[in-house]
Amino acid sequence: MNRNTIVAATGNAHKLKEIRAVLAQWEVLSQTEAGFRGEVEETGVTFAENALLKAQAVCRATGLPALADDSGLCVNALGGAPGVYSARYSGGGDAENRALLLKNLAGEADRSAFFSCALALVFPDGKAITAEGRTHGQILTRECGENGFGYDSLFFSTDLQKSFGEASEAEKNGVSHRGRALRALEKLL
Ligand code: IMP
Repeated sequence: MNRNTIVAATGNAHKLKEIRAVLAQWEVLSQTEAGFRGEVEETGVTFAENALLKAQAVCRATGLPALADDSGLCVNALGGAPGVYSARYSGGGDAENRALLLKNLAGEADRSAFFSCALALVFPDGKAITAEGRTHGQILTRECGENGFGYDSLFFSTDLQKSFGEASEAEKNGVSHRGRALRALEKLL
Protein backbone atom coordinates (compact mmCIF):
# COMPACT_ATOMS: atom_id res chain seq x y z
CA MET A 1 0.00 0.00 0.00
CA ASN A 2 1.19 3.43 -0.93
CA ARG A 3 1.54 5.84 2.04
CA ASN A 4 -1.26 8.00 0.71
CA THR A 5 -3.72 5.29 -0.23
CA ILE A 6 -7.30 5.66 0.96
CA VAL A 7 -10.56 3.95 0.03
CA ALA A 8 -13.52 6.05 -1.04
CA ALA A 9 -16.43 4.54 0.88
CA THR A 10 -19.04 5.21 -1.79
CA GLY A 11 -20.80 3.25 -4.48
CA ASN A 12 -21.54 6.50 -6.37
CA ALA A 13 -19.25 6.77 -9.41
CA HIS A 14 -19.85 10.53 -9.71
CA LYS A 15 -18.78 11.17 -6.12
CA LEU A 16 -15.70 8.98 -6.64
CA LYS A 17 -14.71 10.98 -9.73
CA GLU A 18 -15.08 14.28 -7.88
CA ILE A 19 -13.12 12.99 -4.87
CA ARG A 20 -10.30 11.78 -7.13
CA ALA A 21 -10.18 15.09 -9.01
CA VAL A 22 -9.82 17.16 -5.81
CA LEU A 23 -7.54 14.76 -3.89
CA ALA A 24 -5.20 14.52 -6.86
CA GLN A 25 -2.16 13.88 -4.62
CA TRP A 26 -3.77 10.78 -3.13
CA GLU A 27 -4.27 7.27 -4.42
CA VAL A 28 -8.02 6.88 -4.04
CA LEU A 29 -9.25 3.31 -4.43
CA SER A 30 -12.90 2.59 -5.07
CA GLN A 31 -14.49 0.41 -2.41
CA THR A 32 -14.80 -2.39 -5.00
CA GLU A 33 -11.07 -2.14 -5.78
CA ALA A 34 -10.45 -2.46 -2.03
CA GLY A 35 -12.61 -5.62 -1.90
CA PHE A 36 -15.67 -4.12 -0.19
CA ARG A 37 -18.94 -5.42 -1.62
CA GLY A 38 -21.39 -4.56 1.18
CA GLU A 39 -24.02 -1.86 1.65
CA VAL A 40 -23.93 0.38 4.70
CA GLU A 41 -27.31 1.33 6.10
CA GLU A 42 -27.59 5.09 6.57
CA THR A 43 -29.36 5.16 9.92
CA GLY A 44 -28.01 8.52 11.07
CA VAL A 45 -30.13 11.67 11.13
CA THR A 46 -27.29 14.01 10.15
CA PHE A 47 -24.88 14.03 7.22
CA ALA A 48 -21.97 13.78 9.67
CA GLU A 49 -23.36 10.69 11.43
CA ASN A 50 -23.95 8.89 8.14
CA ALA A 51 -20.49 9.76 6.79
CA LEU A 52 -18.90 8.34 9.94
CA LEU A 53 -21.01 5.15 9.77
CA LYS A 54 -19.98 4.51 6.16
CA ALA A 55 -16.29 5.28 6.70
CA GLN A 56 -16.09 3.09 9.82
CA ALA A 57 -17.73 0.13 8.09
CA VAL A 58 -15.44 0.28 5.04
CA CYS A 59 -12.31 0.88 7.14
CA ARG A 60 -13.18 -2.12 9.33
CA ALA A 61 -13.81 -4.37 6.32
CA THR A 62 -10.75 -3.36 4.26
CA GLY A 63 -8.17 -2.46 6.90
CA LEU A 64 -7.44 0.74 4.95
CA PRO A 65 -8.15 4.40 5.78
CA ALA A 66 -11.64 5.03 4.44
CA LEU A 67 -13.17 8.31 3.32
CA ALA A 68 -16.95 8.63 3.21
CA ASP A 69 -19.12 11.44 1.95
CA ASP A 70 -22.69 11.98 3.01
CA SER A 71 -24.36 14.81 1.23
CA GLY A 72 -27.63 16.20 0.07
CA LEU A 73 -29.75 19.13 -0.96
CA CYS A 74 -31.48 21.30 1.65
CA VAL A 75 -34.32 23.48 0.34
CA ASN A 76 -35.38 26.32 2.62
CA ALA A 77 -39.06 26.44 1.55
CA LEU A 78 -39.29 22.70 2.28
CA GLY A 79 -37.89 23.03 5.80
CA GLY A 80 -34.50 21.63 4.74
CA ALA A 81 -35.88 18.64 2.80
CA PRO A 82 -34.86 16.43 1.12
CA GLY A 83 -31.68 16.73 3.28
CA VAL A 84 -30.28 13.39 4.41
CA TYR A 85 -33.04 11.71 2.39
CA SER A 86 -31.89 13.30 -0.91
CA ALA A 87 -30.95 9.99 -2.53
CA ARG A 88 -34.20 8.33 -1.39
CA TYR A 89 -36.55 11.32 -1.85
CA SER A 90 -39.00 9.84 -4.34
CA GLY A 91 -38.26 6.16 -3.85
CA GLY A 92 -36.99 6.14 -7.47
CA GLY A 93 -33.81 7.35 -9.16
CA ASP A 94 -32.27 10.79 -9.78
CA ALA A 95 -34.82 11.75 -12.50
CA GLU A 96 -37.77 10.89 -10.25
CA ASN A 97 -36.17 12.80 -7.36
CA ARG A 98 -35.81 15.91 -9.53
CA ALA A 99 -39.41 15.60 -10.76
CA LEU A 100 -40.70 15.35 -7.18
CA LEU A 101 -38.65 18.37 -6.12
CA LEU A 102 -40.11 20.45 -8.96
CA LYS A 103 -43.62 19.31 -8.02
CA ASN A 104 -43.14 20.15 -4.33
CA LEU A 105 -41.80 23.61 -5.20
CA ALA A 106 -44.48 24.46 -7.77
CA GLY A 107 -45.65 28.05 -7.24
CA GLU A 108 -43.09 28.64 -4.46
CA ALA A 109 -41.39 32.04 -4.59
CA ASP A 110 -38.51 31.18 -2.24
CA ARG A 111 -36.38 28.71 -4.18
CA SER A 112 -33.20 29.17 -2.15
CA ALA A 113 -31.28 26.01 -1.28
CA PHE A 114 -27.87 24.70 -0.42
CA PHE A 115 -25.94 21.49 -0.89
CA SER A 116 -24.21 20.17 2.19
CA CYS A 117 -21.43 17.59 2.37
CA ALA A 118 -19.98 15.90 5.44
CA LEU A 119 -16.78 13.90 5.10
CA ALA A 120 -15.29 11.40 7.51
CA LEU A 121 -11.85 9.85 7.09
CA VAL A 122 -11.44 6.91 9.45
CA PHE A 123 -8.07 5.22 10.09
CA PRO A 124 -7.52 1.58 11.11
CA ASP A 125 -6.43 2.70 14.60
CA GLY A 126 -9.90 4.22 15.08
CA LYS A 127 -8.91 7.87 14.65
CA ALA A 128 -11.29 9.96 12.56
CA ILE A 129 -11.02 13.31 10.81
CA THR A 130 -14.18 15.10 9.70
CA ALA A 131 -14.94 18.13 7.54
CA GLU A 132 -17.96 19.84 6.06
CA GLY A 133 -18.71 22.03 3.07
CA ARG A 134 -21.70 23.94 1.73
CA THR A 135 -22.63 25.69 -1.47
CA HIS A 136 -25.62 27.98 -2.05
CA GLY A 137 -27.99 28.50 -4.92
CA GLN A 138 -31.55 28.49 -6.22
CA ILE A 139 -33.74 25.67 -7.48
CA LEU A 140 -34.60 26.29 -11.14
CA THR A 141 -38.13 25.80 -12.46
CA ARG A 142 -36.86 23.35 -15.09
CA GLU A 143 -33.76 21.29 -15.73
CA CYS A 144 -30.77 23.06 -17.23
CA GLY A 145 -27.65 21.26 -18.50
CA GLU A 146 -26.70 17.62 -18.59
CA ASN A 147 -23.48 17.45 -16.60
CA GLY A 148 -23.13 16.04 -13.13
CA PHE A 149 -25.65 13.90 -11.30
CA GLY A 150 -28.47 13.99 -8.77
CA TYR A 151 -29.99 17.48 -8.51
CA ASP A 152 -27.21 19.25 -10.47
CA SER A 153 -29.40 20.25 -13.44
CA LEU A 154 -31.90 21.96 -11.09
CA PHE A 155 -29.31 23.80 -8.96
CA PHE A 156 -28.40 27.33 -10.07
CA SER A 157 -25.11 28.04 -8.32
CA THR A 158 -24.74 31.51 -6.77
CA ASP A 159 -20.95 31.28 -7.19
CA LEU A 160 -20.95 30.18 -10.82
CA GLN A 161 -24.10 32.01 -12.00
CA LYS A 162 -25.10 28.91 -13.94
CA SER A 163 -26.48 25.51 -13.04
CA PHE A 164 -24.21 22.71 -11.89
CA GLY A 165 -25.65 20.80 -14.85
CA GLU A 166 -24.05 23.37 -17.15
CA ALA A 167 -20.75 23.56 -15.25
CA SER A 168 -17.60 21.67 -16.16
CA GLU A 169 -16.27 19.22 -13.59
CA ALA A 170 -13.48 21.65 -12.62
CA GLU A 171 -15.91 24.57 -12.25
CA LYS A 172 -18.21 22.53 -10.03
CA ASN A 173 -15.35 21.17 -7.89
CA GLY A 174 -14.07 24.73 -7.39
CA VAL A 175 -17.20 25.85 -5.53
CA SER A 176 -19.16 22.72 -4.62
CA HIS A 177 -20.01 21.47 -1.14
CA ARG A 178 -17.87 18.36 -1.82
CA GLY A 179 -14.92 20.34 -3.22
CA ARG A 180 -14.98 22.65 -0.20
CA ALA A 181 -15.24 19.79 2.30
CA LEU A 182 -12.40 17.89 0.57
CA ARG A 183 -10.08 20.91 0.63
CA ALA A 184 -10.92 21.52 4.30
CA LEU A 185 -10.16 17.86 5.08
CA GLU A 186 -6.84 18.01 3.20
CA LYS A 187 -5.75 20.95 5.36
CA LEU A 188 -6.35 18.88 8.50
CA LEU A 189 -4.07 16.07 7.38
P1 IMP B 1 -25.80 9.92 -0.17
O1 IMP B 1 -25.17 8.95 -1.10
O2 IMP B 1 -26.69 9.32 0.85
O3 IMP B 1 -24.79 10.88 0.39
O4 IMP B 1 -26.82 10.74 -1.09
C1 IMP B 1 -26.46 11.89 -1.68
C2 IMP B 1 -27.61 12.35 -2.59
O5 IMP B 1 -27.68 13.77 -2.51
C3 IMP B 1 -27.32 12.02 -4.05
O6 IMP B 1 -27.93 10.83 -4.43
C4 IMP B 1 -27.93 13.21 -4.78
O7 IMP B 1 -29.30 13.02 -4.94
C5 IMP B 1 -27.72 14.35 -3.79
N1 IMP B 1 -26.41 15.01 -4.03
C6 IMP B 1 -25.33 15.00 -3.21
N2 IMP B 1 -24.31 15.68 -3.76
C7 IMP B 1 -24.76 16.11 -4.96
C8 IMP B 1 -24.14 16.85 -6.00
O8 IMP B 1 -22.96 17.22 -5.97
N3 IMP B 1 -24.92 17.11 -7.07
C9 IMP B 1 -26.22 16.71 -7.17
N4 IMP B 1 -26.82 15.99 -6.24
C10 IMP B 1 -26.10 15.69 -5.12
